[in-house]
Amino acid sequence: MGRYPLRKTRHIWLNGELVLWEDARIHVMSHVIHYGSGIFEGIRCYYAEPEGRPAIFRLGDHIRRFFESAKLYMMDLPFSHEALCEACREIVRANGLRECYIRPLAYRAYIEDEDTWGYIGLNPLRSPVHVAVIAFEFPSYGASAYRCITSSWTRIAPDILPPLAKASGQYINSQLALLGAYMVQTMADRAGLIPYDEAGSPEVSYEAILLDRRGFVSEGAGENIFIVKDGALHTPPTYSSILKGITRDSIVRIAKDVGYDVCERDITLSELYVADEVFMTGTAAEIKPVVEIDFRAIGDGKPGPVTEMLRQKYYDVVHGRDPKYAEWLTRV
Ligand code: PMP
Repeated sequence: MGRYPLRKTRHIWLNGELVLWEDARIHVMSHVIHYGSGIFEGIRCYYAEPEGRPAIFRLGDHIRRFFESAKLYMMDLPFSHEALCEACREIVRANGLRECYIRPLAYRAYIEDEDTWGYIGLNPLRSPVHVAVIAFEFPSYGASAYRCITSSWTRIAPDILPPLAKASGQYINSQLALLGAYMVQTMADRAGLIPYDEAGSPEVSYEAILLDRRGFVSEGAGENIFIVKDGALHTPPTYSSILKGITRDSIVRIAKDVGYDVCERDITLSELYVADEVFMTGTAAEIKPVVEIDFRAIGDGKPGPVTEMLRQKYYDVVHGRDPKYAEWLTRV
């Protein structure tokens, strides 16, 4: 769960310029603060072989999704695809980072000029669109496995908000789901039910699973979900209100390349409970085994061999150790 101490970097890319971290501020009258009108991406940069320098994983695909999110909210981004890809590379270089997380963010801001003190109101089109790219260290984090709780909140439905968009306001839905899982984690911790490793980190953390409006499994609060059953992989389809994860897409391709059948289909909660293995995927979380759902152990309650193999393969791919996927890496 998201509790990672942030270490600030020197620079943030803001509207085409590098500014100091301390100076990247916005006004409280910004439209995004009141109405959630922002879109963003989460991208990882890894120290990759063979050259031994930072490389951004699937940069072009993330920036493409960024533009799709913008389109869904009719947000005109004042920079091209190429300019934003270059901004991501620039912010890694400018901060002297090796492995990091990159967060492009576009939001409806606030402007005052000679004629006006800006506008208040829902109409998003009167606010200028600002774009920032932030990069910071963010090692593979947290517990090595997840216990999941099915949320009582339904994942946003496609006629309510566009699940394909990675939009700031939409994450209120994920936060509600996470709050439920977090409450269970707090109670379990108080009861001494959470094991800790030698370094003092929890070995498991509680995460949320959301169902779609039809009652089928959708995804986690910030991750996609897969099951392994009888030697094949299954994952919910786009129409079950998922964000089309780029890690999900990478795992589908990697799993097929090593010979697994991967089926995108509706999955019920009961199928999760009796799956051989369950895992979650996301840029930040990478590949995380799920060892328990709603107090039922998955398989034997330990990370499974297929999950472990795919996790290892994924690490090899993102670190440039598998030339077959070299086109997924953009050198910084
Ligand atoms: N679903 C949601 C709701 C997310 O926020 C994320 C993280 N971006 C994912 C899935 C995983 O997507 P990706 O693999 O592209 O990071």
